[in-house]
Amino acid sequence: MAPREYGIYIHIPFCRQRCDYCAFVTSTEHDDLIDRYVDACVAQLLRERRESDGIPATVFFGGGTPSRLSGDQVRRIVDACGAEATSEVTLECNPEDLTALTVHEFAAAGINRLSIGVQSTQPNVLKSLGRRSPENVLEGIEQALHASDLRSWNLDLIYGAAGESDADFAATVESVLAMAVRPPHLSAYGLSVEPGTPIARDPLRHPNEDHQADRYEWLDSRLVRAGYRFEEISSWSLPGHECRHNNLYWSGGDYLAIGTAAHGHRDGRRYWNTASIERYITAIETGASPVAGEETLTSDERWFESATLALRTARGVPWEWLDHAGLRALESRGPFVVHRGGRAVLTVQGRLFANRVAQFLRPFVRDGSCSL
Ligand code: SF4
Repeated sequence: MAPREYGIYIHIPFCRQRCDYCAFVTSTEHDDLIDRYVDACVAQLLRERRESDGIPATVFFGGGTPSRLSGDQVRRIVDACGAEATSEVTLECNPEDLTALTVHEFAAAGINRLSIGVQSTQPNVLKSLGRRSPENVLEGIEQALHASDLRSWNLDLIYGAAGESDADFAATVESVLAMAVRPPHLSAYGLSVEPGTPIARDPLRHPNEDHQADRYEWLDSRLVRAGYRFEEISSWSLPGHECRHNNLYWSGGDYLAIGTAAHGHRDGRRYWNTASIERYITAIETGASPVAGEETLTSDERWFESATLALRTARGVPWEWLDHAGLRALESRGPFVVHRGGRAVLTVQGRLFANRVAQFLRPFVRDGSCSL
């Protein structure tokens, strides 16, 4: 039997500056550890990849800021992953790190997809997010990508910052859609208030949920008009540019966790590595396990998690898995799901209430005969 498709997530926890909304595990003070950290990631991969795993379908460098690594450091990790031309290999980047040279070096290292964190093109919005504000950011990306033959890339946006108006958000989206080569994939996240961040401590900087909902609805209709397809609540793509790595997550697939604070999943066992960069490196260097915790889901929990994730995607879930009578009581402004090819797919309204819709999956959790 062919091995099950699997992915590899590699966390690169180094940033130049911490953004005011960010609660990711990352550091601005440990650049001196980058070389040893890369060695540790390579060693963990060589230790944990099984012969029988075969070629990974996807590799994803997330962070932190993976584009702070050199092309050579990225290549060593990609090689240790056993990735081949058939693998989707994505690297998250900050726009300031992208030049024609770095794009060339990353491509030579085996990267075939970039995910670029722009967040907004409006300086006042970036300021309110506590983020650097590079000048002419989209032109810089165009120039960096111009000479490369990279076919697939993603651009990340954030909406709903306290300093953002509808006009600011529209200006960002329209400038992205006016790029000479439009991003084949777009992700847009509503700003969330993460405990412990500067934004969490300042209520005046908290997002307004109604404004966020309005911007989400506007964004979806604008992107659909521009030819993008809804892929998952926060993702849209041009045909043929869906993110395979995210689809692995959304379909309950397996993925290895490499690096500090990385989360992995294998056959229903979820695990996560220590959130301390130093402890991670020491564990790998001394032959100890970097795993800080794990849980094994029951088959019911696994089913419910997979169904909840599938519900958030354009694929939806089988129509009969939802308690439609119960759901209708919630729908004050129109249906939350539509019937499409025997499946229940969230409407734009429904996507805004996805967690509440998922509660109506519960009566079917114990039906082990169901298959996604
Ligand atoms: S660049 Fe990304 S990971 Fe780094 S601090 Fe900002 S949001 Fe967090």
